[in-house]
Amino acid sequence: MKDTFELATLSVRAGQRRTELQEHSEALFLTSSFVFDSAAQAAARFTGAEEGFVYSRFTNPTVSMFQDRLAALEGAEACVATASGMSAILAMAMALLKSGDHVVCSSAVFGATVQLFSGVLARFGLQTTFVSPTDARAWERALRPNTKLLFLETPSNPLTEVSDIGAIAAVAKKGGALLAVDNCFCTPALQRPLALGADLVIHSATKYLDGQGRVMGGAVLGAKALVMDGVFGFLRTAGPTLSPFNAWVILKGLETLELRMLAQSERALELARWLERHPKVARVFYPGLESHPQHALAGRQQRAGGAVVSFEVKGGREAAWKVIDATRLVSITGNLGDVKTTITHPATTTHGRISAEARAAAGIGEGLIRLAVGLESTEDLKADLSRGLG
Ligand SMILES: *Cc1c(COP(=O)(O)O)cnc(C)c1O
Repeated sequence: MKDTFELATLSVRAGQRRTELQEHSEALFLTSSFVFDSAAQAAARFTGAEEGFVYSRFTNPTVSMFQDRLAALEGAEACVATASGMSAILAMAMALLKSGDHVVCSSAVFGATVQLFSGVLARFGLQTTFVSPTDARAWERALRPNTKLLFLETPSNPLTEVSDIGAIAAVAKKGGALLAVDNCFCTPALQRPLALGADLVIHSATKYLDGQGRVMGGAVLGAKALVMDGVFGFLRTAGPTLSPFNAWVILKGLETLELRMLAQSERALELARWLERHPKVARVFYPGLESHPQHALAGRQQRAGGAVVSFEVKGGREAAWKVIDATRLVSITGNLGDVKTTITHPATTTHGRISAEARAAAGIGEGLIRLAVGLESTEDLKADLSRGLG
C-alpha cells in the first residue's frame, strides 16, 4: 500500500470519516451543535484541550471532510471553509492584516476583489497598489516597508493573462510579505500554487469545485500557523461559515474535479483553435494556444489551459451582442465554473462599472466575449456560436 496517493484517488477518498454506522457515502450533518457527555467534557471541548465538535459556526463533520479533502488536493497543511469565495478573501485579510498595512494586488482580479481591497478594507486603513499580473518587476517596485500581502489570480479574467507564481513568490519572500493566489480558474486539478511558492490559496468553491452551479462556498488554504491560528480564529468569532449542506454538495463535486477540468480544458482548446481560424474573429485569448503571450509559462505552471476562452469579434459591441443573442444552447450569464457553457460580454457586464478608458487600458474591448466552456459536445457549441458569427 502506498502512503501517498495521486490526485484522482485523493479527490474521491481523502478526508472521509465514517460514523459507527459505517455509511459508505459521506454523511450530511445538519446540526447546529453537538452534545457532551459531561460538564467537564464541554469545558475541555471549548478550550480545545479535547478534540471534537462543538458548534457548526466553526466545527462540523461534513465541513471538516470538505476541508480535509481540498487540503489534500492542494497539498496544504490546513484549510478553512467559508460561505463564499469573497468571504474567504475577507477572512484572510481580517485575520492576517491590520490597519496601516499595504497590499500589492494584480490589476486583473475579480471585480468584487478590487472593491473589497480598494473600498471596504481601505475604510479600515489598508492600502492597496494594483500592478500588472504579468510584470514581476512591477510587483517588486510596488513593495513598501509595510507591504504584508501580494494577491493574484492566474489565469486572469477575462483575458487569461498568466502570472509567474514562482517569480512573484520570490518577490514576496524578498519583501517579507505573503503571497496569496486565487486558484479559482485552474483548481488543484490543473495548478498547485503552494508547490510553486505561494503561501496561501483562495478558492471560490462556487465555481469549478462544485462544478455544477448549485451552491456558494469558499476556502483559504496554507500552512497551519496562518490558517488555523489566523483565519480559523476569525471564522470562529465572526462567522462567515460554510453551511454543512453546501459543504456536502461541494465535497461530492470534488470527486469529479479532475475529470471535469481535463474534459472542459480539452473542449476549450478545441473551441479556441476553431475560433482562431474563424474569419469574423480578430483575436483569441487562451493559454493553451501557441499565440498566447504566456503560452510557455502556462505549459510549465498548469496541467491544461482551463475552461475559459475569450475572443474578440470584428465589429465591436454590435457584432459581439449578435453572437451572444444568437445562441440557443449556451447560457447568457455572468457565472462560470459550470458544466453548462456560459457566455458573457465583459465590457457591459462584469467590467461595465469601470470607465471606458480604464477598460481600454485593461484590454477589454467592445468586441470581447468570454466563454466558460462546459461539457456539451464541441460540435453543438460550434454550431451555436456560428449562428451569430455569420
Ligand atoms: C467568483 C469569483 C470569486 C468570488 O467568489 P464567490 O463565491 O462568488 O464569492 C473570487 N475570485 C474569482 C476568480 C471568482 O471567479
